[in-house]
Amino acid sequence: MQGQVAGDDAGGGSSRRRESSAAAACLVRGPIIVGAGPSGLAVAATLSQHAVPFTVLERSDGIADLWTNRTYDRLRLHLPKVFCELPHARFPADFPTYPTKHDFLRYLRSYAARFDVSPLFGRTVTRARYDADASLWRVTAVSAADGGVATTETEYVSPWLVVASGENAEVVVPTVKGRERFAGEVLHSSEYRRGERFKGMRVLVVGCGNSGMEMCLDLCEHGAMPFMSVRSGVHLLPREMFGASTFGIAMKLLRWLPIKLVDRLLLLVARMVLGDTEKHGLRRPKLGPLEIKNITGKSPVLDVGAWSFIKSGNIKIVPEVESFTGNGVRFVDGNEMAFDAVIFATGYRSNVPFWLKDDGELFTEDGKAKAEQASDDRWRGPNGLYRVGFSGRGLLGAGADALRAAADIAGRWQAEVAGGSGSGWSQDLLLLGVVVVHRACMHGGVAAPALLAARWSCDDDDHDLASGRLLCSTP
Ligand SMILES: Cc1cc2nc3c(=O)[nH]c(=O)nc-3n(C[C@H](O)[C@H](O)[C@H](O)COP(=O)(O)OP(=O)(O)OC[C@H]3O[C@@H](n4cnc5c(N)ncnc54)[C@H](O)[C@@H]3O)c2cc1C
Repeated sequence: MQGQVAGDDAGGGSSRRRESSAAAACLVRGPIIVGAGPSGLAVAATLSQHAVPFTVLERSDGIADLWTNRTYDRLRLHLPKVFCELPHARFPADFPTYPTKHDFLRYLRSYAARFDVSPLFGRTVTRARYDADASLWRVTAVSAADGGVATTETEYVSPWLVVASGENAEVVVPTVKGRERFAGEVLHSSEYRRGERFKGMRVLVVGCGNSGMEMCLDLCEHGAMPFMSVRSGVHLLPREMFGASTFGIAMKLLRWLPIKLVDRLLLLVARMVLGDTEKHGLRRPKLGPLEIKNITGKSPVLDVGAWSFIKSGNIKIVPEVESFTGNGVRFVDGNEMAFDAVIFATGYRSNVPFWLKDDGELFTEDGKAKAEQASDDRWRGPNGLYRVGFSGRGLLGAGADALRAAADIAGRWQAEVAGGSGSGWSQDLLLLGVVVVHRACMHGGVAAPALLAARWSCDDDDHDLASGRLLCSTP
C-alpha cells in the first residue's frame, strides 16, 4: 500500500482540462492571501484591525471549505473551545465546550462578516512566483467561467504573499492493489457524512486517527458493522481526565515538566481510565503521544466514545490491507474478509508544492513547514512571503501565526505606504500602485501589457476602500 495524492493540480484535484482564456492582471492593495479557511480569515481579520487592505483568493465558493464540504456531520472540535478561538473574537458564551462543526461554521461566518473579509471565491491559485527584478509576487489564479467549461486566468500582483491554503488541502488515498476488482463502494473520509446509509453493512475503515475512530463510532450508532484497519501503533487518550481537558492538562504540565515526563503521566492516567488498549488491538507506539506530535505532527487520538465499542467488539480491529478482492480485501496476514464498503480515513496533505515556486525556505518538498527554523520565525520567509496555519498546532497555531504575520505586514505597509501617519492615505496608496505597476511593467511577463492597460484610480466606484479589494482592474 503506497501513499498517493489524489489530484495533481492545486486546488481540489480537478482532473478536467479546460480552455483557458487570455491572462488578465490585477495589482492588489496590500497582501495576497491564498485560502479562506480559519488561517486566511484570521490573517485578514488582523490586517483589517491594522487598517491594512488585503485580497483573499479562495478556490471554493465559500469560506472554510474543509469544514463546510469535507467533514462528517457529527464532527465537533477535538479541543475545548478556548483553544480554538481565532484572534479578536471569542466563541459565543452559549457554545458548548466542544462546539459542533455547525457552531464553528456559524462562528467563522460571523467572524468574516465582523472583520469585513470578502474573499474572491472560485479562484484556484495555480502558480505563485517571486519576481526578483520587480520585487513582487505574481500569483496566478484560475476561475471557471461559462458554467465551468472555460477558465479565466488572472495574475494578481503584490509585494506580499500569505500562504494559508492549509495542511489538509488535498485528500490522500493510498494505492491498493486490485481496486478495480472490488464491487463495493470506496470513498475517502472527506466524502463521509453520516452512517445512516450504511445500516446493516460491513464497512472497513482504513486508518485509526481521530476521523477513522469517529466514523467507526458513527457507523456503530447507525447500525452498521465497522471494522477498523490499523497499520501502526496509535496513542488513544481519553478526551478528558479528572473532568478537565487532556489537552489543557498537558499544556499546563509542559510549562513545568519535560515532555517525556508529561507523556509518562498522560499514559499512566490513560491506562487507568481506558485500560490496556493493546489487549484490544491498539498497540501504543514506543515514543509518547506529545513527543510523536512534536516530531511528526501526528496528533494522538482523543476518545469520544469509540473505545467502549472497541472493547465490546462492536468495532473490530483488523490488520493492514494488502489488496482488494472481488468482494472485500486481503490483509497482510493473508486473511480475507468481505465488505460492502471501504472508507479511507487516510488523511490529507498540503498542495503548496504544486503552486508555490521560488520558495525553498519555508516549505519542504511535500509542502510541510520546514522544521529546522527557529520556532518563533516559522511564519515568515524571505521576500514578503508568509506561512500561516502550517505549524501542526491546529487552530491555536493558526491564530498565533496570523497575529505575527499580520503585525509584520502592517509594519511594512505603514512604513512603506502610509509613512506611519495615516494622513494622505489614498494618495500614498496610489503612489505605491504607480511604483508597483511601473516595476511590474518594466520587468515584463504576461502581466505587463495587461497592467499597462489597467484602469485604476482611487475613486470609491473603482474599488472598495472599506473592504480593500482590488486597486486596479482590467478594462
Ligand atoms: C476532520 C478534521 C477535524 C479537525 N478538527 C480540528 C480541531 O478540532 N481543532 C483544531 O485545531 N484543528 C482541527 N483540524 C485541523 C484543521 O484542518 C485546522 O485546524 C483548520 O481547518 C486549519 O485551517 P486552515 O485555514 O489553515 O486550513 P483549511 O481549513 O484547510 O483552509 C484552507 C483553505 O484554502 C483553500 N485553498 C487550498 N488550496 C488553494 C488554492 N490553491 N487556491 C485557493 N484556495 C486554496 C481551501 O479551499 C480552504 O478553504 C481538523 C481537521 C480535520 C480534517
